[in-house]
Amino acid sequence: MTDTTPDPILAGQLAYYGARAPEYDRWWRRAGRYDRGAVENSQWFREISEIDGALKAFQPGGEVLELACGTGLWTEKLLPYATHVTAVDGSPEVLALNAGRVGSTRVKHVQADLFTWRPDRMFDVVFFGFWLSHVPPAFFGTFWALVEHCLKPGGRFFFVDSRRTPLSTAVDHVLPARDETIMTRRLDDSREFQIYKVFFEPTELKTRLADLGWQCELRETGQFFIYGEGRHCGP
Ligand code: SAM
Repeated sequence: MTDTTPDPILAGQLAYYGARAPEYDRWWRRAGRYDRGAVENSQWFREISEIDGALKAFQPGGEVLELACGTGLWTEKLLPYATHVTAVDGSPEVLALNAGRVGSTRVKHVQADLFTWRPDRMFDVVFFGFWLSHVPPAFFGTFWALVEHCLKPGGRFFFVDSRRTPLSTAVDHVLPARDETIMTRRLDDSREFQIYKVFFEPTELKTRLADLGWQCELRETGQFFIYGEGRHCGP
């Protein structure tokens, strides 16, 4: 029998990102509680440039699906390559910021819970930035089945996510222990939320994805990010 009890962490995780929406980009810009000083901040932006280069080499063209699109940091990077982007997120607050940022008729915004959402069509590319680490371990296989289901035959995914380093998060956040997958996050006003945060290493993730029929190229930047691409090769 399937356990249909709602997971309070998943509800809290979505509430956290809704409440964090106006301050979300400070993390990306290394501002406020995310400022780690000039040296670390420069390294962060250098590594983002590396991922921008990898995305350019990947060429996310055609019909692109962006899962957990957030405030649009990646939606705007996808747009120059894509014919059309379908940007899905569970939070109306972040979707409003995303729409304001990209301001394009080539982006369709969809508010949906990714743990229940099913696509009504298939895409050339599925992109997800900083989402895989928020998928609870129990949903790993279900999530990758969703990605497979969303892709046209021959379609490809590209993702980027966090490496395990305390320097990528706020100064007042503590990473989960290595055998834990839940951490406490704080907002600027000190409100606290529990979220899933699962870290992956390329070799281990590549093996797990191969078991699910994916052929992938996965890499890490020097300090902060894991990223990669792949396509499904299974039956
Ligand atoms: N991809 C964006 C980026 O890289 O900036 C946002 C990543 S942010 C870490 C995670 C996103 O997942 C948030 O925008 C949040 O609203 C969304 N989210 C959280 N739970 C969700 C759910 N159950 N269904 C859909 N989106 C969800």
